[in-house]
Amino acid sequence: MPAREPVAGDRRNRRAVREAPGVDSSERSGAMRIRRCETDLLIVGSGFAGLWAAIAAREAGVTRIAMVDKAAIAMSSQSRLCAGATIYCLPEDSLELWLRDIVEANGFLSRQPLVAEILETSHERLRRLESWGVSYERAGDGYLRLPSRGFRHVKMMVMPRFRESVGGAAVADALRRRARPGTQTFPRVLVTDLLQRDGRIAGALGLDRTTAEPIEFAARAVLLATADCSFRGSYVCTDATTGDGFRLAYDQGARLSNMEFLCTNTGSPHFGFEGTGVALRWGGRLLNARGEAFMARYHPDADSAEIHELVQAMAREVEKGNGPPFQLEMGDSFTTRIAPALARIGGFMPLNLSRLADEGVDLRRPQEWIPAVQTLRGGVRVHADGQSDVPGLFAAGMTEALDPGLFNGWSTLRAMGSGERSGRGAARWLADAGPCAPHSDEVAELAARATAPLGRKKSGGLRADEVVERMQRSIFRTDVSIRKRGESLEAALRDIEDLRDGALPDLIADDVHGLAKLHETRNMIRAAEMFLRASLARGESRGAHFRVDHPESDEASRLVWINLRRADDGAMQIEREPVPLSSYPIQPLVTPVPA
Ligand SMILES: Cc1cc2nc3c(=O)[nH]c(=O)nc-3n(C[C@H](O)[C@H](O)[C@H](O)COP(=O)(O)OP(=O)(O)OC[C@H]3O[C@@H](n4cnc5c(N)ncnc54)[C@H](O)[C@@H]3O)c2cc1C
Repeated sequence: MPAREPVAGDRRNRRAVREAPGVDSSERSGAMRIRRCETDLLIVGSGFAGLWAAIAAREAGVTRIAMVDKAAIAMSSQSRLCAGATIYCLPEDSLELWLRDIVEANGFLSRQPLVAEILETSHERLRRLESWGVSYERAGDGYLRLPSRGFRHVKMMVMPRFRESVGGAAVADALRRRARPGTQTFPRVLVTDLLQRDGRIAGALGLDRTTAEPIEFAARAVLLATADCSFRGSYVCTDATTGDGFRLAYDQGARLSNMEFLCTNTGSPHFGFEGTGVALRWGGRLLNARGEAFMARYHPDADSAEIHELVQAMAREVEKGNGPPFQLEMGDSFTTRIAPALARIGGFMPLNLSRLADEGVDLRRPQEWIPAVQTLRGGVRVHADGQSDVPGLFAAGMTEALDPGLFNGWSTLRAMGSGERSGRGAARWLADAGPCAPHSDEVAELAARATAPLGRKKSGGLRADEVVERMQRSIFRTDVSIRKRGESLEAALRDIEDLRDGALPDLIADDVHGLAKLHETRNMIRAAEMFLRASLARGESRGAHFRVDHPESDEASRLVWINLRRADDGAMQIEREPVPLSSYPIQPLVTPVPA
């Protein structure tokens, strides 16, 4: 084992893992020490999806559950940091109208039965959260329900509270308390590889982020709830969202869908701000470099249009020479309407606003505003029980491909609903699945490979952060991520392949922290490749995927999902899977002609 530098928190975390029941430390493969944990269900990720999965699996009879997170358990996820605005479909709401809203807003690429089930079960989840002590903001006799941008009927509830916590933190705290009994937790463990045996999942390999010691998780089922990929863009609170689950599932041969949908929001280049949609709804306006409010030229809803329409319009203004810079002008509306609206929604924004004020940022004055990549909205293609194509491998939350859009309140509902469904699905699978243990040779080999960059000598190659910067320069271009062009996507793909084949194999890690960053970089490069290949494959425009060279939605041919899979020769294979619209409840008003 190469020399390691001690880091803060080292002792406490090492003790936490050693003391966890079921963890056995064993010497394997000469000097390499590999700790071992045997469990039935391994859940990777402790956001809303992972926590609900743990609760559902335990209720369905799974007694041995282990949960790992590369950060603290339930403390650093998007779920915890988010505002917690959530869509719940109550008995008085029309499920059909809500389903139509969601399916239409997602360009008919929703997996409708899964979406319908999440909506149908949402009221029961709300009821359970309330019975555990979570409350949502109320107005008069009922809940305060706000319209969710991008939908006509769907409404969301805001400001969850649980004891002293508010926003996503409140729901995460309540779920953590519920999930904890009977769940063995492994904080600060980064899962680097999954393990298979005889064609089914057999566990995972993790790295203790404070010591770099490998941990073998022998598990009969693995559930990935690791969220999506932000490519370390400038969107707030998403630095650790590095597409880990995408690469882990892909390497095992699982199919991924919707990887062409990179959702771009907007924000300040100088400070974190979450809530452009709210700002533009309550009196804010986007201005181009000439000081003109330009949105009405592009969309009948002007500044209230869906976020990806704003981003498209900004890019088109750039093409006309009308920007950058762009500005968000809030004026006095900031004080009278916008700040109170953000305070009402909750999350980290009210605290952020007071910090910005302390720093002397006056949000009543126009602020420079830019498009900001938020998240790659694809994920692992799952079946009705949350299981991927690989037996024993489940996915939930933003790791799962349900639909490609980004809508406020829908992401949290999706994460909770799919977590519950996949946790239950994993329990059903486990009831019939026999024992299965990873090959110890494979574990030792993967552990040696995962830690090798720590011992590597400097070779003059790139560092992980330099690779990330080059990746961002390739894919964050307007003609690659916003108004995509075939030749630009091809050029970006060549850059990413160069990084994948040229830079990744020689990366070195100076310390344990660097080792984790290196693995995350590897994951992001794989996600970037998926994004580019899927973007090239979809020769039409749909939702947040806009091809300048194919500007129309291709209604003339059958609607398809673009699926990616690792072929036997290691190449990334593309498959077009027809969307079975004729058997779905919601159909476009103009039905696509069969191919
Ligand atoms: C600032 C902000 C505000 C938001 N506000 C809202 C809102 O109000 N309403 C809404 O609907 N949506 C909102 N969202 C989006 C929403 O919060 C997320 O989409 C949702 O919570 C994701 O849940 P999840 O469980 O899939 O993933 P997460 O909550 O992100 O959890 C993933 C977990 O997996 C862990 N992990 C990842 N990789 C590994 C690995 N290799 N090994 C071990 N662990 C790993 C991570 O550390 C993390 O804890 C917001 C997002 C942000 C960033």
